[in-house]
Amino acid sequence: LDQLAQSDPTVTELIGQELQRQREHLELIASENFTSAAVLAAQGSVLTNKYAEGLPKKRYYGGCEFIDQIEQIAIDRACQLFDATHANVQPHSGAQANFAVFLALLQPGDTIMGMDLSHGGHLTHGSPVNVSGKWFNVCHYGVSPETETLDYDKILELAKQHQPKLMICGYSAYPRIIEFDKFRAIADEVGAYLLADIAHIAGLVATGHHPNPLPHCHVVTTTTHKTLRGPRGGLILTRDPELGKKLDKAVFPGTQGGPLEHVIAGKAVAFGEALKPEFKTYSTEVIANAQALANCLQQRGLKIVSGGTDNHLMLVDLRSVKMTGKIADRLMSEINITANKNTVPFDPESPFVTSGLRLGSPAMTTRGMGISEFMEIGNIIADRLLNPDDDTVTADCRARVAQLCDRFPLYPHLQIKVPA
Ligand code: PLP
Repeated sequence: LDQLAQSDPTVTELIGQELQRQREHLELIASENFTSAAVLAAQGSVLTNKYAEGLPKKRYYGGCEFIDQIEQIAIDRACQLFDATHANVQPHSGAQANFAVFLALLQPGDTIMGMDLSHGGHLTHGSPVNVSGKWFNVCHYGVSPETETLDYDKILELAKQHQPKLMICGYSAYPRIIEFDKFRAIADEVGAYLLADIAHIAGLVATGHHPNPLPHCHVVTTTTHKTLRGPRGGLILTRDPELGKKLDKAVFPGTQGGPLEHVIAGKAVAFGEALKPEFKTYSTEVIANAQALANCLQQRGLKIVSGGTDNHLMLVDLRSVKMTGKIADRLMSEINITANKNTVPFDPESPFVTSGLRLGSPAMTTRGMGISEFMEIGNIIADRLLNPDDDTVTADCRARVAQLCDRFPLYPHLQIKVPA
């Protein structure tokens, strides 16, 4: 950061402020994490200078001999992690990975079926504001009103009715196990392709803490930066070699130009980390911590959608305390907790207001926090939500957040450079 501080003090100062923000806040956004220092270093490397359109050993540019080796390592490690036979590590993001799958498998006007955004689906699964909702006919499924979990009989009924060409499972705000074999049986019954988007749970899948979709799904997409704890990016996996070729073409030249090889190096490093036994321990802790937080909040009288969690995230249904997600989000940020408002299934509020708060354990587990710290986090959140107008409680919550952050330092090797 020395050179950066000299050449651009303004940007340096802002990076320093962001580092400080990350250090001083409890990061509970379920889709965020802290990469290792090694991943940060790979991403900030000279690889950003290199054009490498194409695939390893099949490039449109010279000088790719080292890039090729790095990208091949990322591909091999991704296949090993997820028990796939084909991986494309080039998608710039999860949305790009999904877009490439659509280009490979669909024509405009085809029917796709994914979970409703307000029940936990993602924008790229057929939302009207996304290309997936603009170019395809979309039929959405949701969760059962009684259990707030997937109702496979209902999904089969909808699939028979709408005859989708592509079915999507995998979500942004679903706290329970997804039964990919059941989805495959439904897809087979209606002759649909099955895509699992495991953006959120990829790290848990890699360590065997969630069933692996690869044996059941035609294609699997994921982000690399959530529970998988890599750099911001996307990944596509399959076991079908013919589909693999189509997917490669759909990424480049179909939807992208030059791959971000510095990010791919970061992915290679992160996949290497995820193959180590320590990462398995990390995943075990991510789930135990999320469950401790959910239990604590429930004991304090807050309703958790579906009654708990099997993974890294949970949704607090704030209707139990007559509050909106928008207000809860603000109450959290006032005590240096970062979370996000989120719709709950059958939410009466708009997506800008919502009735839910989504919380996740991956980032603070990376910082080293365990079950007792997550119970303390649950008590801080409950104290604040149950006493929204009490300034003494607010000050006390803020102090407890600061204590937790101090006990678990983040990136101690990085110094904040504030230019003179
Ligand atoms: N798919 C799911 C299920 C997600 O939750 C997300 C991001 O939150 C994405 C795709 C998109 O990923 P990105 O933001 O990298 O485009």
